[in-house]
Amino acid sequence: MSDFAVLEVILKRNLSYLGICAVLLAAMIIGRWRLGVGGIERSLKRQSWGLNTLLNFTIYGGQEKDLDDALALVKRYEGILDRNPPALLGQLNLRKTEQIGEELASLISRSRQVGLLTGGALDITLGRAVELWDFGGHPRVPDGDELAEAMKGTGWAHLSVKGDRVRFDNPFLKVDLGAVAKGFVADRLKDFFLKRGIRAGIIDLGGNVLTFGTKPGGKPWVIGLRDPFGSSRSVALWTFRGDAALVTSGVYERGFEKDGLWYHHLLDPRTGMPINSGLRAVTVKSDRAELADALSTAFFVCGRVKAEVLIREHFPDVTVVFFDERGRGSAVGRDVSELSWR
Ligand code: ADP
Ligand code: MG
Repeated sequence: MSDFAVLEVILKRNLSYLGICAVLLAAMIIGRWRLGVGGIERSLKRQSWGLNTLLNFTIYGGQEKDLDDALALVKRYEGILDRNPPALLGQLNLRKTEQIGEELASLISRSRQVGLLTGGALDITLGRAVELWDFGGHPRVPDGDELAEAMKGTGWAHLSVKGDRVRFDNPFLKVDLGAVAKGFVADRLKDFFLKRGIRAGIIDLGGNVLTFGTKPGGKPWVIGLRDPFGSSRSVALWTFRGDAALVTSGVYERGFEKDGLWYHHLLDPRTGMPINSGLRAVTVKSDRAELADALSTAFFVCGRVKAEVLIREHFPDVTVVFFDERGRGSAVGRDVSELSWR
């Protein structure tokens, strides 16, 4: 082979080598663009206010428009779930309509099931008592007589659901969905994001967290459980993969102090007074945020001993963290091994 031919072969080899390098480089650039800095798929975040709480959305693989539309969906649900008119539930409460559509009627019906299974610990018929306490507005301790009046004829026995109709046998009874609304909306938001082709995300409605899909890079979700005394410190980390909802009911969330006493927003369905069940907070993990929300309220109200029986008998797929009055946490249920205490 002449020197010239050798040179030509080397040049050709180098050229094809260069070509491969160029293709690899292009693939890396495209890949990096798709995956974002650090090899993690680009996430979009949005913070807003809705459902009387701070909303935080993180989505992987979507667009700003998806977040705009998700917030519009939250608004739509506010227009259905609020206890007061013009919301649909508000119209039901004023007896302006009985026919409330399948979506709201079935939410009330599912809440009824959880209410009955938990012996009435979850009771959405406490609307008038919730109104008197006005925790989200200008909280005050109601006078004993007015509370007794508001509690008259409350309870699941006074409400029935048939198809898309809700009927009451007490003309004054009002439904309040504060205990389940955020969970319900979180599930709807997840369905919405999945329909938009978003692969993964975190829907955080005031600390009630729902994760869906697989985090880019295959890393697990790590969710901190807040200090039950209300500081922003995490007292435990919950590490898991895939879809789950973690919902907390606690005394620090909504409440006020009067004459040295702390009044919180989780009410005893027998009296309409803040319940003292020996707990500071309860966190429930479930596949569905609505169930986690319903049960976090119900378990807080019925207390740990009864909650453990209910978990065994009716809700074997949930995992629950109980924080007692001294703030000590302990867990029961299927996924306890995912928790690490700090
Ligand atoms: P948060 O809304 O702060 O996340 P919860 O899901 O536990 O907390 O819901 C508490 C809300 O539910 C209260 O603010 C009130 O509107 C309503 N509520 C209070 N006590 C009960 C109860 N025993 N059953 C059903 N709803 C209740
Ligand atoms: Mg709840």
